[in-house]
Amino acid sequence: MAKYDVIIIGAGLSGLECGAVLSAEGRRVLLMEQGEVSGGFFQPFRRRGVKIDSSVHYAGSLDKGQFLHSAFTYMGVMDKLKLVRMNSRGFDVICTDGESYDLPIGHEQFVESLSARFPHEAKGIRDYSAELHRTGGLSIQSIRSGGGFSPDGIDAISTSAYDKIASFVQDPVLRRVLAGNSIIYGGIKEVTPFYVHAISNNSYIESSYRFADGADTLTTALEQKIIDNGGEIRFSSGVKSIITSNGEVCGVLSESGEITESEWVISTIHPSLTLEMLNIDSGIKNSYRERITALRNSCGLFCLYLLMKPGSYPYRNENYHILGEKNVMVSFQPPVNESAFAEVVTLIRQMDFSEVEQWSESYTGKRDSRYSEFKEKISEEMMERAEQILPGLREAVKARYSATPLTFRDYVNTPQGTAYGIMKNYNAPLSTFIPVKTRVKNLLLAGQSINVHGVMGVTVTSLLACCEIIGPEYLSEKMMI
Ligand SMILES: Cc1cc2nc3c(=O)[nH]c(=O)nc-3n(C[C@H](O)[C@H](O)[C@H](O)COP(=O)(O)OP(=O)(O)OC[C@H]3O[C@@H](n4cnc5c(N)ncnc54)[C@H](O)[C@@H]3O)c2cc1C
Repeated sequence: MAKYDVIIIGAGLSGLECGAVLSAEGRRVLLMEQGEVSGGFFQPFRRRGVKIDSSVHYAGSLDKGQFLHSAFTYMGVMDKLKLVRMNSRGFDVICTDGESYDLPIGHEQFVESLSARFPHEAKGIRDYSAELHRTGGLSIQSIRSGGGFSPDGIDAISTSAYDKIASFVQDPVLRRVLAGNSIIYGGIKEVTPFYVHAISNNSYIESSYRFADGADTLTTALEQKIIDNGGEIRFSSGVKSIITSNGEVCGVLSESGEITESEWVISTIHPSLTLEMLNIDSGIKNSYRERITALRNSCGLFCLYLLMKPGSYPYRNENYHILGEKNVMVSFQPPVNESAFAEVVTLIRQMDFSEVEQWSESYTGKRDSRYSEFKEKISEEMMERAEQILPGLREAVKARYSATPLTFRDYVNTPQGTAYGIMKNYNAPLSTFIPVKTRVKNLLLAGQSINVHGVMGVTVTSLLACCEIIGPEYLSEKMMI
């Protein structure tokens, strides 16, 4: 008998969620993580003694009775999270055409607030909100039924987000406002499905929260749960290949050459990397391998982290999305001890891999001076844009640090530094929404490239993978959904 029931590749959010669920359900679980710590994108870093969140800035659907609250309660970590509820009048503020538009928490408030600004579009706004809510609920249905898309789901993944918004409202400014936070889902007019837009936005409209002591409080709590449940996590343990026999999984081979056997393997890393780990006899056809490897990745992100002078700039409990040729998002990290002043502010903008490709052969900390100059130029442009909406911000900055897609690639092994994994495309929905189940028996996929990214999307994929092992009816009943 294999030593483990399940080996999970990667200890980012998805791997930890799968590990927490399956270890609690009595499975012998081993997580193998290439990095030195858990969390993947949730890892913070420290500068001048201050903890800085590298990626995740907010999460939705965390009120009692909402999806992530139920999921984290089932995983046994909800009570470990210290959350800051964001500004109810506007968790996201969209800045365009010299005006600011609030996106409030709660569908009713959302409709009221936007209808007051665009009274001629009141009916369209109400219908849009209802559709967002309905589509947002489809992921819960998919867990109840154990995966696969319902006819409504197929419709939502095959419809353009841009066209769907345009079908509800005509005003060009309102259309821009409704797509104004597209940076959080890597939205692109020509490809993004309405499903991706709806899963993200519905979740934040339901309720929006920041993590008071850092986003890693979630991943650390999950890690602790796994250990408490008797599961194991090995760090600096990259997986090199997945071992199969007669089309069935039998274990993995680590980078250091150690073979570990298991009945199941769940890979939570990028699917193209998973496919590289499978040999020709695994049953995976070359045509499938080539198709997945050729899929386009979603954008990378450039992050500028501002360490603020103490007591010099007020903390803002909402995000700002400054629209332009490249949108800039500004997010404030909750200050320790609930201070009224900002400690860390992060500016984010989309960055295609092509912008940094000339440095792709080098590693973080070892790049040339032109790379530093490039980062400085982008940082300055972003500061200027932010200063227009938040005057005095620059004056209050003590120090600044930045990360490009190459930084994320180097730390979490994400191809081309993609922030959200494989790009979903409404023109090719069935090839860009990759199923959890593979042709290799007992090999499952989870993580942000499957279904949707982000705390919401990743949690759905993790639960779908667990459903394959413990059953959807059982899991839905335990989660009370
Ligand atoms: C700048 C930025 C801001 C973001 N902001 C938000 C936000 O505000 N809200 C939100 O919901 N989402 C946000 N996201 C998205 C969110 O962070 C991700 O969707 C999510 O964290 C992905 O989790 P994952 O487990 O799928 O992948 P990952 O976090 O990438 O985890 C995969 C893990 O696998 C490990 N690994 C890789 N290769 C191997 C191997 N061969 N062997 C063993 N281990 C391996 C990696 O080291 C990593 O730990 C943001 C992302 C970025 C980049």
